Amino acid sequence: MEKKLITIAIDGFSSSGKSTMAKVLAKNIGYAYIDTGAMYRAVTLYCLNNNLIDGDTVDTQALEKAMPTIAITFSVDPTTGASLTMLNGVNVEQEIRDMRVSGKVSIVAAIPFVRRALVEQQQKMGQSKGIVMDGRDIGTVVFPNAEMKVYVDASAETRAQRRFDELKAKGDTSTTYEEVLENVKYRDHLDQTREESPLRKADDAITLDNSTMTRDEQNQWLLDLYNSIVAQQ
Ligand code: C5P
Repeated sequence: MEKKLITIAIDGFSSSGKSTMAKVLAKNIGYAYIDTGAMYRAVTLYCLNNNLIDGDTVDTQALEKAMPTIAITFSVDPTTGASLTMLNGVNVEQEIRDMRVSGKVSIVAAIPFVRRALVEQQQKMGQSKGIVMDGRDIGTVVFPNAEMKVYVDASAETRAQRRFDELKAKGDTSTTYEEVLENVKYRDHLDQTREESPLRKADDAITLDNSTMTRDEQNQWLLDLYNSIVAQQ
C-alpha cells in the first residue's frame, strides 16, 4: 500500500542540530527538505549587500520595496548532492552561514512583512505535503496542521560548541567559542521575545532534547517517530 504523504515540522533553537537531522530524515523517506533559516539568512545577506542595515536598525522602507525583487530558491549541488541556497540566482550557501549574517539575521527575521512574505512562500512549497521543513515557527504558524511536529532543545553551551566546531571545520580560525555562545544566546533571546511569531513549542509538538544523543541516535529517534505516525494515518 502507498504510504500517505504527511507534513513534518521541525522547530527549535539555533544550532540545535535540527537541520542536519531534518535533512537525513527527508533523504531516508524520500521527502523534500526546506531549511527556512536559510531563507531568513538570504534576506539578511541581501540587506547587508545593499547597505540596508545600520547597527541594529534596518531600513524597512527600502527593504519592503525590495522584497518582491528578492528571489530565494534552492538547488542541488551536482557533485555533492547538497542543497544550495540561491539569492537572485547566485549561490550564497557559504556566505549566509558566516558570523556577519548570523549577527543580524534575528533582527531581519523579526520584521513582520519579511515573515509574511517568507511564510507565504513556505506554505506554497509544502502544499502537496511530502515535506520536511525546519525553522522556528513551522509547527505554530506555517503548518499548524502538520501531522508530525518536533521541537528540538539542547543547552546553549552544547549548541555553541557544535556551531564553533562547525566554523572551525570550515576554516574559520578567528571566531572564539565565547563569541559563538554570545551569538547563540542573543539569537535565542530575540527569537523568543519578538512580537511576530516568536519561537515557542506548539502544544502538540514532541520535544527532543538531544544534548547527550549521538547523530545516529537522533536520526533513528526521528525515523521511529515518523514510522509510528504514518502507521496511524
Ligand atoms: O535556523 P537558523 O539558525 O539558520 O536560522 C537563522 C535565524 O533565522 C534564526 O536565528 C531566526 O532568527 C530566524 N528564523 C526564523 N524563523 C524561521 C527560521 C529561522 O525567525 N522559521
